[in-house]
Amino acid sequence: MSFDYDLFVIGGGSGGVRAARIASQLGARVAIAEEYRMGGTCVIRGCVPKKLMVYASAFAKDFKSAAGFGWTVGRPEYSHASCMENIATEVSRLSRLYMMGQKNAGVTVYEERAELTGPQTLRLASSDKEISAEKILIATGGRPWRPEPGELPGVERTITSNEIFDLRDLPKHIVIAGGGYIAVEFAHIFAGLGAKTCLVYRKETVLRGFDDDVRHHVQDGMAEAGIHLITGSVFTSIEDSGDADCPHRITLTDGETLDASTILMAVGRRPNTDGLGCEVAGVDMKDNGAVIVDDYSRTNVPSIWAVGDVTDRVQLTPVAIREGHAFADTEFGGNPRTFDHDCIPTAVFTQPEVGTVGLTEAEARAQESDIAVYRTTFKAMKDVLGGSISKVLMKMIVRVSDQRVLGVHIVGPDAAEMIQLAGVALKMGATKDQFDQTCAVHPSIAEELVTLTRKVS
Ligand code: FAD
Repeated sequence: MSFDYDLFVIGGGSGGVRAARIASQLGARVAIAEEYRMGGTCVIRGCVPKKLMVYASAFAKDFKSAAGFGWTVGRPEYSHASCMENIATEVSRLSRLYMMGQKNAGVTVYEERAELTGPQTLRLASSDKEISAEKILIATGGRPWRPEPGELPGVERTITSNEIFDLRDLPKHIVIAGGGYIAVEFAHIFAGLGAKTCLVYRKETVLRGFDDDVRHHVQDGMAEAGIHLITGSVFTSIEDSGDADCPHRITLTDGETLDASTILMAVGRRPNTDGLGCEVAGVDMKDNGAVIVDDYSRTNVPSIWAVGDVTDRVQLTPVAIREGHAFADTEFGGNPRTFDHDCIPTAVFTQPEVGTVGLTEAEARAQESDIAVYRTTFKAMKDVLGGSISKVLMKMIVRVSDQRVLGVHIVGPDAAEMIQLAGVALKMGATKDQFDQTCAVHPSIAEELVTLTRKVS
């Protein structure tokens, strides 16, 4: 049977564009469909615009600490409209680059939604065109999840991380629901930008899944950042407050009320498989809609693969990219390989930020019979004159039997930059001795990584 394409990719995000470009460069006839904007969540409404907002927000602390270094700074003024317009321009530039990258690689781009109609067939939703492909890659990512109005009356008054980038006025009072990294990052962003900010989290400590010391350190730092934190509580309803400035009145579990101008729901994400046709094509999914795949990103249908957030493995851009690349190399490059999901370094762009790689202390204790934990907290040199009370946390988890470093966790300025390099060492199987034998860079925060002597357990 002849097919229209050797590969059809559904979704022009991090995983999809990488897979399409590599497969095309390897000689395959490739097409990709994107229903919204080329670049996907990361470029359009995730990592990139968010990190730019983090930069915008961080100036607030810099202006404050400048005085300690002899600077007189006038009253700084911030225009959210101007910042967000500039970010939108950059996002559009990147999206165009992604589009060009596909076309230059010889990929046919369909700027519309695609749905599966069988194991090797698809329908383009707008043009109603039927297309056949020998292989299909599902790379449709995920979307923010919100409770239904039946579960949370007034939920339609809230926005998600998708819409947060469309705001042109800085919220007067933003209330954020959630305790994951997206919720906590946006709490820091808006507090830094000068919005009255409140974070409401159902559990007691934010950043579930991270090392406990990191979680407590981040949580303790929220007060200095000006974030009002309410834990152990959820929204039970949202109504009209009658106040034009803060028109939404949130009622919490204990009956307390909060008035807000903007409410951000950052309470989780779901794989994008609604209406995709997985059932028609026979693709197995988990209860949450995630496509089930093996290490090679193969689904149960021999002609269909899936990569990235839609598979609900590790929801990060570099992971989606690596999975997409490994798929293309395997299927079109004669180079079968998988992406190793072990030891993925990652960051949370709180202020200060978190960098983490490897096992948490709790995970290490569950897996190993004998571990040593090194931990230190100290004030970053810049903060000594700058006046901030925040401290750097550095923690290393070591397997006693062979001294191998199993985990590194940092909260502090530039933790994301540091953890990328610590990640190389951990991936190579570095030992605590090898860290210690590495000469320090002085004066730096990172030097503490090679001089950690304070064994706490
Ligand atoms: P996506 O990038 O989501 O791409 C999927 C694409 O498919 C989308 O463009 C969508 O429009 C399209 N699509 C869906 N269905 C169809 C269809 N039927 N037909 C055609 N097109 C379709 N990760 C990091 O590593 N670092 C960060 O700092 C970071 N920050 C984030 C901040 C936020 C606010 C969010 C929401 C996410 C963040 N992430 C971050 C996660 C990261 O964005 C995702 O892990 C990554 O984008 C996943 O890539 P993907 O290719 O799987 O899916």
